[in-house]
Amino acid sequence: MPVPKKRTSRMKRNSRRAHDRLKLSVAQVCNNCGAFVLPHRVCQKCGIYKNEKVLTVN
Ligand SMILES: [Zn+2]
Repeated sequence: MPVPKKRTSRMKRNSRRAHDRLKLSVAQVCNNCGAFVLPHRVCQKCGIYKNEKVLTVN
C-alpha cells in the first residue's frame, strides 16, 4: 500500500480546496415566482418549467 512521503502543507491543501466552493454560484431566477432555480431544471417552488406547469406543488 502506498504511503505519502510528506504531509500535505496547509497552503497546498487549501489551494486544492479553493475550487470546491465555485459550483453553488450557478443559479437563475424563476420567471414565475422569483425563486432561485438551477438551469434546465423545474422550479421547486411553483413547478413551472419553460412557462409550463409540469409539477403540482402544494
Ligand atoms: Zn417558480
